[in-house]
Amino acid sequence: MSMDLKSLALPGVQHLQPYQGGKPVEELERELGIAGAIKLASNENPLGLSPLARSAIDRVLTEGARYPDGNGYYLKSALAERLGVNSNQLTLGNGSNDVLELLARGFLGAQHNAVISEHAFVVYQLAITAQNARAVIVPAKNWGHDLASMAEAVDEHTRLLFIANPNNPTGTWVPLAEVETLLNRLPEHVLVVLDEAYFEYVDEPGYGSALTLLDRYPNLVVTRTFSKAYGLASLRVGYAVSHPDVADILNRLRQPFNVNGLALAAARAVLDDDEYLQKSIELNRRGYEQLTAGFEALGLDYIPSAGNFVAVQVPGDAESLYQALLHRGVIVRPIGLYGLPNHLRVSIGLPEENRRFLDTLADLLNDGESN
Ligand code: PMP
Repeated sequence: MSMDLKSLALPGVQHLQPYQGGKPVEELERELGIAGAIKLASNENPLGLSPLARSAIDRVLTEGARYPDGNGYYLKSALAERLGVNSNQLTLGNGSNDVLELLARGFLGAQHNAVISEHAFVVYQLAITAQNARAVIVPAKNWGHDLASMAEAVDEHTRLLFIANPNNPTGTWVPLAEVETLLNRLPEHVLVVLDEAYFEYVDEPGYGSALTLLDRYPNLVVTRTFSKAYGLASLRVGYAVSHPDVADILNRLRQPFNVNGLALAAARAVLDDDEYLQKSIELNRRGYEQLTAGFEALGLDYIPSAGNFVAVQVPGDAESLYQALLHRGVIVRPIGLYGLPNHLRVSIGLPEENRRFLDTLADLLNDGESN
C-alpha cells in the first residue's frame, strides 16, 4: 500500500504526541523479571480504595449487564448539595481528563487559540492541538503560572485559558485573589478553566477554590476529580462546574454513558467517606515532610508543592537517574516533556515507599560520585 494513511488525519492530530503515563508496576516487573517494585509515578492515592467505595461497587456489580444512568442523577445531586450549586451546572466525565477534552471540543476550532502556561499539565496542549487550534504557551514565573502575562496573551481568537491550580508536575499554585484579578481583566469570550484536580490537598494561605467566584463570572469553569484525594483513579470520574449554558454544551457533546456504573456508585459513596479523605490528606502532609526533609539532607533543590507529588532537581541527567531507579524497582516520572529535563517528579506514597525511594536515590547519587 502506497498511501500514507497518517496523512489523512487532521493536521493537529498528526502532530499529537501520545500522553506518557507512569510505568505500570506489572510492566516493570515483567520486563526486569523482578517482584516488589513500587510506583510513585502517577499521583495516585497510596491508601488504596476507600472501604465505602469498595462496598458500593460490590452492590452495583450485579447491574453490570445494564447501562448506567447516563445522567448520573444521584452523584450529581450529591455533588450539587456538597458544592452548593445546581445539578444543571455539573458535567460528569470519565476522569476530569474527559471534561477537559469536552471543553476543547466544544469551544475550539481551527480559527481559535487557547492560552496555557509553560510546564502546565500536558493534557491541555493535547486537547487544544487535537482541535487544530493553537496553544499559546506563556513562560512560567518561578516554575508557576504567570497570570498577568497569560491575560496579556489573550486575543480576539482566544476561547479558553487553562489554569492548573495546583499545577502538575510543578505543584505550584495561584492565590484566589490573583484568579479574580485575572477574571476581571479578561473579555467575556474567553472561558477560564480552573483545574482543581489536587484541590483537597492544598493547605496554603491565600489559596481558595474558584467555585466561590462562579456566581459572579459566568465564563469560569472549575474542574475536579475523584482520582486523587478520593482514591478512584482507575474508576475514572471527574466533573466540571460551570454556568448552566456551558454545562449544557458539554453534556450534549459527551458520550451518552461516559461514566460507568461502578464509577458512579463508588464516587457517590466516597463523597461521604470523610475519614478516608482526612486520612489521605494527613498521609500526604506527612509524606511531603518526609520527602522534602530527605531532599534537603541530600542537598537537592525541589519545587515547593501543594499537591501529592514533588518535582526534585537532580544532578546530571534526570532520564538516566530515572532508568537507574527503575532497575532498582522504583518507578518515578521523568518530566523532560514538560520542559523540566533536570527534574524527576515523585508522587507521595506510603512512609515505607517514600523511605525506599529516598534510600535508593541516595545510593545512586553516592555511586555517581564515587565513579
Ligand atoms: N488535571 C491535572 C492537573 C492532573 O494532574 C490530572 C491527572 N494527572 C488530571 C487533571 C486528570 O486526572 P483524571 O482524568 O484522573 O481526573
